Amino acid sequence: MSIIKLQDLHFKPYVNQAEIAKAVKHLATQVKADLPKNEVPIFVGILNGCFLFAADFIREFNGDCEVSFVKLASYSGTSSTENVKELVGINEDLTGRTVVILEDIIDTGNTLQEIYNIFRNKNVKELKVVTLFFKPTVFKKELPINYIGKSIEDKFIVGYGLDYNGLGRNYSEIYQLTTQPKMKNIVLFGPPGAGKGTQAEFLKEMYQLVHISTGDVFRFNIKNKTELGLLAKKYMDEGNLVPDQVTINMLKAEVEKNTDANGFIFDGFPRTESQAEALDTFLAEKGEQINAMIALEVPEDLLVERLLERGKTSGRADDTDEAKIRNRFNEYNTKTAVLKDYFNAQEKYYGVNGVGSIEDITQRLATVFDKL
Ligand code: AMP
Repeated sequence: MSIIKLQDLHFKPYVNQAEIAKAVKHLATQVKADLPKNEVPIFVGILNGCFLFAADFIREFNGDCEVSFVKLASYSGTSSTENVKELVGINEDLTGRTVVILEDIIDTGNTLQEIYNIFRNKNVKELKVVTLFFKPTVFKKELPINYIGKSIEDKFIVGYGLDYNGLGRNYSEIYQLTTQPKMKNIVLFGPPGAGKGTQAEFLKEMYQLVHISTGDVFRFNIKNKTELGLLAKKYMDEGNLVPDQVTINMLKAEVEKNTDANGFIFDGFPRTESQAEALDTFLAEKGEQINAMIALEVPEDLLVERLLERGKTSGRADDTDEAKIRNRFNEYNTKTAVLKDYFNAQEKYYGVNGVGSIEDITQRLATVFDKL
């Protein structure tokens, strides 16, 4: 999940699909458990916002039920100053029925007040209210709400049926209003030996960004014989990837060390799809995002040559043995290369020719940076 933009506003992920599903299931189970045996309730969804919630709730409800939807419409009454509310769409005779209102969100309680007013003279046996979301800090009424899925803080939310200016209802998750992202975050991408580290050194100065190379962080830990270093060493020496969870936790810790940064150049991360997803979610929770993946494109044979050359001076065990170098390419081709599609799908992929002089390549990269 990443940040979304609807018209002029940005929203960050707030409640994911799994959490929503759990809350909905819990509500449906509770409602069923509290009904008298053989009671057939009529569920009444308050449109528009409730349509996804109502659909999911009803599927989770285990028993016979009827379903109806209403809309609360305002129209001007006889006197133009008087604002009368009316429920549109209730055709059923509700006399003696157990009516269960399904609301997506209750905040001030104004809509809820109207609902209670209108149902008061419908001779129902019982009226119950279920809401998926509830904002306790702004609720001003003395009205019962029988079932609450999740209490949330008073911030504007969209998704899962809820809208901002009509948009956002189609998202499967809930997003919360946030400020415009402040950082510029770049993934510098490419196979081993493409020149990511070299170029990152120039670019971080040019754009005042923090450079995080996961390979460098691992090597630092190995040199200092930390627990993380000992763990990573056996993978790195063979040219294998270090397990995702270890790498992701380390990356997060590096980002947290630089909370006031203008942005980051990520070098050597993400290297798997699950790392990419974790990075997206992690940044989105901070109201930030990846702006671009910029890839250095270099043919593989040239890379092997470069790495063997580097191995003469770098002191890196994984640069000296051709079999291990080949294994790193194998890891790249099977696990990492797919990230091109991942970022392409978000329209964030930029390929740059990585063959040429260091200065020329820096210039090519800068041209892309400047466009972002
Ligand atoms: P690099 O310096 O980027 O070529 O990385 C050297 C080695 O560090 C890799 O071959 C992996 O063993 C390990 N490594 C660096 N970054 C990652 C990552 N994002 N995921 C897993 N392993 C990594």
